[in-house]
Amino acid sequence: MEVARHPARVELARQLRAIATETLALLLPISCAGCDEPDIALCEPCRALLAPAVDTRTIAGGLRVSSGLRFEGVAARAIRALKADGRTGVAVEVAPALRSAALAAGWEPGVLIVPVPTSRAAYRRRGYRVVDLIARRAGLPVSRVLRVGRASADQRGLGREQRRRNVAGTLSARGAAGATVVIVDDVITTGATLLEAVRALRAAGAEVRGAAVVAATPLRRRHRETAAKHLELRGDGANLPG
Ligand SMILES: [Zn+2]
Repeated sequence: MEVARHPARVELARQLRAIATETLALLLPISCAGCDEPDIALCEPCRALLAPAVDTRTIAGGLRVSSGLRFEGVAARAIRALKADGRTGVAVEVAPALRSAALAAGWEPGVLIVPVPTSRAAYRRRGYRVVDLIARRAGLPVSRVLRVGRASADQRGLGREQRRRNVAGTLSARGAAGATVVIVDDVITTGATLLEAVRALRAAGAEVRGAAVVAATPLRRRHRETAAKHLELRGDGANLPG
C-alpha cells in the first residue's frame, strides 16, 4: 500500500516540516548582532565599538552631515541586523550614535528632527521604520513632515549621479513652513536621498540646519584599506592616514 504518496499525507508532512522549522527558529539561540558570539544579543566588545565617534562632512549643496559611527565592521553588521534581520533590539544600541550626531548637526529644543521617510514597500517588508525607531530610542522627537510621493527604483548598485536622478522629486514636505529642521537617516552613502530631502523641505519653506545619520560610509575607503594593508605589512598599523 503506497500510503506515503497520498496527497493528504504529503501535505501533512509539508505542514509538519513547516512547524518544525518555525519551532527550531524559536529555539535557536540568539547571537551577537556584531560578531555572532552565541547566546548574547550584543557582546561587550561589540557594544564598545558602537560608542559614538562623531564626524561631520559637507556634501554637495553645502549640506553638513554629522555621523555617529563609521559604516564598517561591527557598526555595519549591527545596522544590517536591524534593517534586514528584524533585530529591532539593536536600535537602542545605535541610538547614542544618532543622538550625538543630531547634537553635532545643531539640534536643540525648537529644531525639528525630520526623518527621511521609509518607502511603503520597506515598511510593509519590515513592519517598522528603522530611522524613526532609532530616533525614538535616542530620545529625539520626530516630526514626520516628509512624505514619499513617487516611488524610486532600488538605489543599490547605482552611482552618485544615477542615484541623484533616481530620487529627484520623490519626496514632498508638508507642515514645515518656517520651521528649522535637522534631517535624520540611518546611513549615508552618496547623500542623494538627503539632498532630495533638503530640496523638498526648502520647497515647503523650511530652513535645513544640517543632517544627522547613525553611520557614514567612510570616504575613500578603498584608498584607506590599501594604505592600511601596506602599513600592516610594514608592521606600522598604528599610524593610519586620516
Ligand atoms: Zn559581538
